[in-house]
Order: sequence, then C-alpha cells, then structure tokens
Amino acid sequence: RAFPLYEMLDKHAREDAGHNALIFMGRRMTYGELGELSDRFAGGLRSLGVKRGDIIALFLPNSPQFAIAYFGALKLGAVVTPMNPLYTQREVEHQIRDSGAKVIVALDQFHDKIKNADAEIIVTSIADYLPKHLAIAYSLANRRPKIEAHKFRDLVKAEPLAERPAINPEEDLAVIMYTGGTTGIPKGAEITHANIAANLQQLSAIIQNVERKFNVERGVWVGVIPWFHIYGMITVFLDAVYEGGTIIAMPRFNPKETMEAIEKYKATLFHGVPTLYIALLNSPHASKYDMSSLIACISGAAPLPREVAERFEKLTGARLREGYGMTETAVVTHVNPILGKHKVGSIGVPIPNTIAAIADPDKPQLLPPGETGELVISGPQVMKGYHNMPADNELVFFQCCGHRWLRTGDLAYMDEEGFFFIVDRKKDMIKYKGYSVFPREIEEVLYQNPCVKEAAVVGVPDPAAGEIPKAFVVLKDECKGKVSEDDIREYLKDKVAHYKMPRQVEFRDELPKTAVGKVLRRALREESRK
Ligand code: ATP
Ligand code: MG
Repeated sequence: RAFPLYEMLDKHAREDAGHNALIFMGRRMTYGELGELSDRFAGGLRSLGVKRGDIIALFLPNSPQFAIAYFGALKLGAVVTPMNPLYTQREVEHQIRDSGAKVIVALDQFHDKIKNADAEIIVTSIADYLPKHLAIAYSLANRRPKIEAHKFRDLVKAEPLAERPAINPEEDLAVIMYTGGTTGIPKGAEITHANIAANLQQLSAIIQNVERKFNVERGVWVGVIPWFHIYGMITVFLDAVYEGGTIIAMPRFNPKETMEAIEKYKATLFHGVPTLYIALLNSPHASKYDMSSLIACISGAAPLPREVAERFEKLTGARLREGYGMTETAVVTHVNPILGKHKVGSIGVPIPNTIAAIADPDKPQLLPPGETGELVISGPQVMKGYHNMPADNELVFFQCCGHRWLRTGDLAYMDEEGFFFIVDRKKDMIKYKGYSVFPREIEEVLYQNPCVKEAAVVGVPDPAAGEIPKAFVVLKDECKGKVSEDDIREYLKDKVAHYKMPRQVEFRDELPKTAVGKVLRRALREESRK
C-alpha cells in the first residue's frame, strides 16, 4: 500500500506519543514531540511562503533538527534534498542549483558554505538544538539583505500545520537523492512517496519476522551511517519511524562511542558500510562491549570482504548479513536471510516484491541463470528517474518481458539457489591485454592477509597492456615497516592468476573514501594517471 510518508509519523505521534523516537547525545525526543515540532516547522515554513512541491535542502548531520525539518517539509507537501554536511561551498551551490531548492535548512556553523547559494530562504540552527534546550540561534539576516534568514527555533514555535496536503504517493516526490559520487558527479534521483513506502514495507516483512523470533517488541536502531545518504535515510531514520522504534542518532562515527551506545541502549539493529565494520574490528575496544542485544547487523553500500564478516561475527557474536541497494532503488533490493540460509560473499536474495535478473550489458535482453552480466531490478522501490537528465534515463531503463528494468551498473551472477553475487562495477573492470580483471577478486585475497587493513585495486594505463592492475594497501599498525611491496606481491603470487597480478603495489596510510565510507577507486585511478 502506497502512503504519504508523514502518515507514519502522525500514527506514532498519536498512538505512541510517549515513546522515544530519538536519543541524541543522551537527550530524548518522543514521538509526540517529533510530531508536534514537525507540525510547527511545517506551519513556520508555510508562513514564509513555502508551498507544496517546493524543494527544501537539508544541510544537517544526523540530529533532531534533521528529523524535524524532514517531516516538517513532507507535511507541507514539499520535497527534501539532503546534502552531505562535509560538502564544500562549491558542492553545496551545485546541489542547490541542480535540485532547484528554494530553502536551505542548515546548522549556523555552515553559514560560510551556504551564504552565496542560489536559495531564497535560509533557516539556521545552533548545533545542539533540542526541544527543551533552546538557545540563541545565529541568523544571516544582517549579512545578506536579499536572502530571507530565519532561526530554526522560531520556526518550531510557529502555529502547527494541522491539515495535510493531498499527496499522490505514486507521482509526488518525497526526496531528490543524490547518488554516492563513487563513479562520477552525483546524480539526482527522483524518489516518490510510494517508492519509499514500498521499501519500508518490504523491509518490515523481514525485520518483524526477526523481532518476533527474538521477542523484541520495539527495535532500537543505531543511527550512525549518514541520513543524507539513501542507505541511512531509509534503513535507519525512516525505517525506525515506520516501525515506531527508537533511533540512537549519532552525528559522526566513532568506534568506541558506537559500541558504547549499542551496549548502553541495548540496540537491536545496526547498519553499516564495510569500512565501518573494519574500523570497529580494529578498534582496541572491540572486545570490551556487550553487543549481544543486536539481533541483526547489516552491511551494505559496498562489497563486504569475507574476512571482515567472519572476524566480526566471531568477535562480537552478532549476526552480520550483507545486503545490496542503490540510490536509484530507494534503497534495498537484496539481503541475505537473517535467520535462514545465507551465504558469505553474496548480497543475498531479492527482498519481497522485488524482481532481479541478469541482463546483457549492451542489449535489452535477459541472460540465463549462471551467466555473468549486468544486475537489473524491477520493483515498486525503483525511482521515477534522474532529475534533469533525460539522456541518462534513456540509458538506465529498458522494457523487457513485461517489466520496466533499471540497470544497476554492477556486474553480477545468480547461483542455482537464487543467491546473487556482485562481481564488480562495470566501470571499475580492468582490461589487461584483453583479459578482464575484477578488482574485487584481488582485494578479497589481499584482505585475507593478516597484515592488510584495507585494500583497493585499480587499473592504470600501460602502453603495452592497455591497463595494468595496481594495488593500494593500508597495513595494520603492527605490520607497518615490516612488510614490503614485494612481500605483498609474493603473497599474491600463488593465489591469483598471472594476468591478474598487480604489477604495482603502493602502501598508503589511508584510502580515499566517499562521505558514506566507500573506497574511491576513481580517485586512486586519477592519482595514478597524473
Ligand atoms: P555513483 O552512482 O554516484 O557513482 P554510487 O553508485 O556509489 O555512486 P550509491 O547509490 O550510493 O552511489 O551506491 C550504489 C552502489 O553501491 C551499487 O551500484 C553498487 O555498486 C554498490 N553496492 C551497494 N551494495 C553493495 C554490496 N553489498 N556489494 C557490492 N557493491 C555494493
Ligand atoms: Mg551508482
């Protein structure tokens, strides 16, 4: 059933007013408070002339303000476009222009980055705003006469908006989400209310099953992955509200604080990206905390090395399952069964009411099981299309066999039991003397080396071979200075075919990553080309 997204908050604000929606730095906000503050925020926006269909950019970390402004905007029928708080001024200005946002809601400390952006209204909040801890907000009013500047705290005191807009969930956008920017400039994906409502219901079918099994009545989500990215926005922020659970909102990732929060609040669900699990594992505190309350840990957004999955489970006793999704499929399409049969190294099986297939990367045709090709998805969570990019929409969708398919850009295959395996991104494949080399395969082997903390393999141009594989390796602290580039090549020698062998190995102290924590092979490739 498709529904306007504010309905789920209205329901819990009515029925579970006293239950904690959010815990932020030890302070609590109930569903009743979140409902009322977002009603007021919506009323405040309306009094500023903001209308249904207007686009509102959120330039906020995981915080109560994010939740209030997000639902406030939706209650008015406006469309949210979240921005990474680490964006530079140039990136902010790009997203404001590209999305056509009229309003920016930001922390006051970000004012230098937004002061010239092409918006009409700016709402700023001090960093530690909470309903019961109002303090004096910073205002831009004196600095930019042309722009209207308002204080967040004034908007949450406005007359609450009682009525709701007539939303058509199948047509009306809830968010314009920008892709991770892993392979190029982020693209805006138009996501409807129905897209997100579908994914929440699909996830619910899985989660409720596990909660029943472990007698969990109300889930507690650890909200450490960013909500400005589709993965955290849907599987943590919105999913917790859909289920009426509690979110432990963390504005930044710190391994110790994260594990402390899991123990203290008896968290039941944890979502992370692989680099986050690696950081937890390598933390000196990893074995000190009791994480037995967790009924499921999910890893998504990038390949989870087998080594990491196995070590994490062994250390914490938690169940760690890999899933898959992308901005364009808002968000999850696959996950490994949490209780039933699962396979390490696989992204699992399609979630309920989702069809996945393998297609010819160049033709609108599906391939038989067992063959490697491009993963394609059809389901109610698949986006309407890219924002302002008709040419890309032509390329990314095709019609076949009674369905509209979305091309994921990922090469994959399905085994005889229906489990899917991602081979690699199409764009990251290395062509060595006509042979295809998939970086992920070599990275997996590198991760099995006890001295390797992180690894990435990219193709660098070579006059004779076309491209040669090059490995970037981050060593664990205890191995630094003791392992040489030659040792790494020697280690790989009998484990990967000669043509896949990295001809170059370079040690780094860290690898470049996207805001969500994905290793940026693109940046490594560009550096190697200079
Ligand atoms: P951009 O599209 O801007 O280059 P991006 O593809 O990283 O960035 P997202 O939509 O955040 O942007 O990520 C989706 C992609 O993440 C998928 O297409 C896939 O390549 C990768 N991904 C997600 N989950 C997994 C997984 N479990 N294993 C491997 N790759 C994954
Ligand atoms: Mg992508």
